[in-house]
Amino acid sequence: MPGFIDTHIHAPQWPNAGLGLDLPLQDWLNTYTFPLESKYKDLDFSKKVYEDLVTNLINNGTTTSVYFGSIYQDSNLLLADICNEKHQRGFIGHVSMDDKDNNPEYYRDKSAQDSLNKYESFINKLLKSNEKYSIKQTPVITPRFSPSCSLESLKGLGELAKKYNLPIQSHCSESDWENSYSINKYGKRDAQLLYENNLLTSKSIMAHGTLLNNSDFNIFHKTGTTVSHCPISNAYFGNAIFPVNDALRKNVNLGLGSDVSGGFSPSLYDNMKDAILSSQHLQNGVDNSVVSEIRGVTNSKITSKQAFYLATVGGAKVVNLKTGKLKEGYLADLQIVENQPNPFQKNDKQDILDNLIYHTRANDIKKVYVQGYLAKRG
Ligand SMILES: [Zn+2]
Repeated sequence: MPGFIDTHIHAPQWPNAGLGLDLPLQDWLNTYTFPLESKYKDLDFSKKVYEDLVTNLINNGTTTSVYFGSIYQDSNLLLADICNEKHQRGFIGHVSMDDKDNNPEYYRDKSAQDSLNKYESFINKLLKSNEKYSIKQTPVITPRFSPSCSLESLKGLGELAKKYNLPIQSHCSESDWENSYSINKYGKRDAQLLYENNLLTSKSIMAHGTLLNNSDFNIFHKTGTTVSHCPISNAYFGNAIFPVNDALRKNVNLGLGSDVSGGFSPSLYDNMKDAILSSQHLQNGVDNSVVSEIRGVTNSKITSKQAFYLATVGGAKVVNLKTGKLKEGYLADLQIVENQPNPFQKNDKQDILDNLIYHTRANDIKKVYVQGYLAKRG
């Protein structure tokens, strides 16, 4: 099968996978996430965690990952090195966060200029270190999200993305708190704010988007901005279910993201299953005191085929790469899965696909190749 593309994952949050998921987003960030991310100044710690994470992703059939790193340049470069050594393709985001009100003093950039200087040097070092490897790691412009960044840094990051023609990633309209932040502070929606700062382009990947409205989708469509759908994480922090079918109907490209550790699992198999389940909840509705006719949102449920599309072809469009398909001229990003046919089913194409999605475990994935190179496991 084609390898999977995880279009949104926070590498430094791996040790926290599954922790603190009962808290609202802002409290979870301050209690669990920022204290952990601040530890990545320590390169020994970074190495231990990142080797374990990249191995786990490969073991789950993920051949390309779009990573958020931390604010520490050396640690992010180390993540790129580890991807190279293990033969995984990474999009590596050096995180920018300089706002003094919304980031703790112990974990933020000193100023917008400091953030931009560090970024430009990160880009150049990563592009340089790529020269000796066949699988290229791509730097990604990464404003954490609108509450984390000053206007000056958003503007500067948009300019850097243009100067180096780089992909951009951030979170957009993720939760009620985050969605209302730009509205209260700037009098405009998240998407509009990012758009005005040249951060929504055909290379932009916006995570979550659970609260995007029609005007936001119009901006996404117009600019070619894509969404990383993170169904597991959205159940905890999204405050709504992302409408996959609605976005696809509006010609917005979508991929799937694990969003570790807002999501507890590094497996896109788990995320495919949850994408299907959450779409069923959206279609059926959730409040049993409401009459069935108006309880849910019609035409919302997605099929297993669509979930598989999100993890493969959709993700490939998000990262603008010829991958996600077994086809001549495409990158040889593959997972070799040994999944025994079910003796009680007819095992036609649909049965085989359903079995692969619902029943594949990491142990069933025997080998993983990235660009024809055997990825290193365990
Ligand atoms: Zn995220």
